[in-house]
Amino acid sequence: MGNGDELDAEKAFFVADLSQVYLQHQRWVTSLPKITPYYAVKCNPDPYVLRLLASLGAGFDCASNGEISQVLNIGGIDPSRIIFANPCKANSFIRNAGKVGVDTMTFDNIDELYKVARTHPLAKLVVRILTDDTKSLCQLGLKYGAPLVTVPGLLAKAKELNLDVIGVSFHVGSGCYDPSVYSDAIGRARAVFDMGKDAGFLFNLLDVGGGFEDSLFEQAASVLTDAIEQHFPDRRNIKVIAEPGRFYVSKAFSLAANIIARRAPFSDSSSETPTESNHPSVMYYINDGVYGAFNCILFDHQVVHPYVLSMNGSFHVPASEPVSTSSVWGPTCDSIDCVCPKTELPSGLRVGDWLGFDNMGAYTLCAASQFNGFEVSKVVYTLGSGAAAAEVRSKLTAFAVEAHGL
Ligand code: PLP
Repeated sequence: MGNGDELDAEKAFFVADLSQVYLQHQRWVTSLPKITPYYAVKCNPDPYVLRLLASLGAGFDCASNGEISQVLNIGGIDPSRIIFANPCKANSFIRNAGKVGVDTMTFDNIDELYKVARTHPLAKLVVRILTDDTKSLCQLGLKYGAPLVTVPGLLAKAKELNLDVIGVSFHVGSGCYDPSVYSDAIGRARAVFDMGKDAGFLFNLLDVGGGFEDSLFEQAASVLTDAIEQHFPDRRNIKVIAEPGRFYVSKAFSLAANIIARRAPFSDSSSETPTESNHPSVMYYINDGVYGAFNCILFDHQVVHPYVLSMNGSFHVPASEPVSTSSVWGPTCDSIDCVCPKTELPSGLRVGDWLGFDNMGAYTLCAASQFNGFEVSKVVYTLGSGAAAAEVRSKLTAFAVEAHGL
């Protein structure tokens, strides 16, 4: 084996199962058939995920010029399928959005209105309101969202500047663990629709944002459906969209990481059998960490759970294998680079064995850095198996034919 082959053989890598994205979309259309998902590109801008979602009829939530270009460069996606869902944009970004035909964009402050009036006066504006985000892992209200008391003033200024405001958006926070907050948010959106009418606008867009957690999705969908029915009984002229990110991609990506080093901090490091203790007795070092894929631990408040993919060349770990309290660390020379401070792993794990991590598709790759010269882990793709795989293949093929005449 040449040195290059050896390097490649031990690199950490993602496995993306595109059929999981497809199956999540099936769940979406089953539970929320009247709400069009505008996938939040920031969550994972993987090119095949974007193509598949485009082929399934999704729109896209973009937050920057870069994300807008990435979506439009796929081909076959009309700019009207993009919402520029960043309430605080650079002047040049707003001007560029106008140039490429992206008209729908959010705002939550007066300065944004002056910028839009100057750089893209024909924009279709969506007022992002503040809602309760205290039941979420990542609270976005700290940074964005107009308190309801400020909305009449914003709408009056928009009117004065001859701008068009077409609707309301909110985000209950990413990783929402109490779906009841959607109900309160829809009530607030209703109040803002009424403010819009008072200000002389005819709103036709309701954007219910993201926050959808896999295990609570059906519950959230039911809360949303009931609240929309209650507060917006006549929806003939209203389009309802959402901006899901995590829900679509989290489960679809797993990461395999190689154990590159091992240390026994509380025992003689030359010992083959680390001492049992309540403290981690073995430290494993793997070749991806918090500066890479596991940035989700720092930025997205995630806790990850390693499992053994292969040990001593075998994919099977005997049930009788003893375990040791262990910690798992990333490869950089920084002590913050801890992937898992305490977990039980088989005592027989050695350098060269592989650990696996599931649910690694959301807010991982997109924010991975190359700090200390470590590469961002690459992705290998699978279509999965069975009917879902066949659907994914046919959707991607049909999209390629339509978009590029291939
Ligand atoms: N929309 C906006 C404006 C966001 O900021 C985010 C996440 O930060 C999302 C959508 C996606 O949220 P989630 O991944 O919780 O679905």
